[in-house]
Amino acid sequence: MTPHVIEPDPQAGAAVKAADRAHVFHSWSAQGLIDPLAVAGAEGSYFWDYDGNRYLDFTSGLVYTNIGYQHPKVVAAVQEQAGKLATFAPAFAIDVRSEAARLIAERTPGDLDKIFFTNGGAEAVENAVRMARLHTGRTKVLSAYRSYHGATSTAINLTGDPRRWASDTASAGVVHFWAPFLYRSPFYATTEAEESARALQHLEDTIAFEGPQTVAAIILETVPGTAGIMTPPPGYLAGVREICDRYGIVFVLDEVMAGFGRTGKWFAADHFDVVPDLLTFAKGVNSGYVPLGGVAISAEIAATFDKRPYPGGLTYSGHPLACAAAVATLNVMADEKVVEHAAHIGEHVLGPGLRELAERHPCVGEVRGLGVFWALDLVRNKETREPLVPYNAAGEANAPMAAFAAAAKKNGLWPFVNMNRTHAVPACTVSEAEAKEGLAALDAALAVADEHT
Ligand code: PMP
Repeated sequence: MTPHVIEPDPQAGAAVKAADRAHVFHSWSAQGLIDPLAVAGAEGSYFWDYDGNRYLDFTSGLVYTNIGYQHPKVVAAVQEQAGKLATFAPAFAIDVRSEAARLIAERTPGDLDKIFFTNGGAEAVENAVRMARLHTGRTKVLSAYRSYHGATSTAINLTGDPRRWASDTASAGVVHFWAPFLYRSPFYATTEAEESARALQHLEDTIAFEGPQTVAAIILETVPGTAGIMTPPPGYLAGVREICDRYGIVFVLDEVMAGFGRTGKWFAADHFDVVPDLLTFAKGVNSGYVPLGGVAISAEIAATFDKRPYPGGLTYSGHPLACAAAVATLNVMADEKVVEHAAHIGEHVLGPGLRELAERHPCVGEVRGLGVFWALDLVRNKETREPLVPYNAAGEANAPMAAFAAAAKKNGLWPFVNMNRTHAVPACTVSEAEAKEGLAALDAALAVADEHT
């Protein structure tokens, strides 16, 4: 894509920032300690500020702009829908809503053919859990420690990472377990086969001690995202499927981040030939141009609510503007072979490029990922695998990661940074040249992190 001509306007930028600081209360932040960048525009894989600095976005927003910023076909579809029917309540049949549901159902695995729409990922998780509880008549839900499922009440309880701590409530019926992660194995395993087998045994033991008759659902991110992009070892997800079948437990795969092309297939589940009972999605479904999420529901669970009402709904469920963006996005992804492109970039550019960086940089402990979904696990010491910063570090303790992020930005790359990891998660439409530009900027930033090994 031809780079957008950027007209610097620092004065306008200062005004935007002042208004933001006066009135916007930001997520996950100490309001007095943050200094948000004022963004003037975005296109494709890039965004830019009012001072004329352009950044290659290796975060895809919050890992959602799968087709990049300002795709003309999606922008036009939203504009057209706004002119035709800007809004209409969920209880009615609307052409663009049923078309979005049809296109999603066509792409989800197995018989996940009914779509319940939400406004985002957390609401999708909330509703998946409610469906599982009503379907089974049981209450407990098992989720993994290294996970993120959203910031609403049940979703944050299911979340395994430290963002849960401040919102933990005593008895939400949530039980955490360890999912496989060979590089930092909770099971002291040394091979993928061992890790998979021990993780499955641990899950079975957890179910046995909780009481199988009390467990409504097991929820897993197919490839955990925010917690570190840990591709599960062969056999693990199939094993979980088998355990769920054996105990009558609903298997929920959370594909809010991994879905819609991110891993180089439509859904990450397609890599493992596993079909869940419920699949949650959001983000990439319409690249976030208008908020949209949902639950894809199996025929069996949908049948539970055939004669009995489903007790849940949202005012903006299946909002026409969001659905128009989804229809346009899914058509663009098919027409422009975006999923195939993401697989190609992963296999031929990002994967090899990141592995090459790992060989040269003492701070890179492990590279893992697939498609346009990659993590670099940064360490002080490759032998001991001691993380570059302590778990959940803040302030001075987090200085090495902060220095890495600052160096990346100085080199024109906006990096995703979480604990001791950086994730390379550009748009699925990122070109080879852009991906290589990102690798060069990472190279420079990793050299700064190397100083802390
Ligand atoms: N599940 C997963 C796997 C996610 O990555 C996220 C968001 N990062 C969510 C759920 C929550 O989605 P939202 O922020 O749209 O509520």
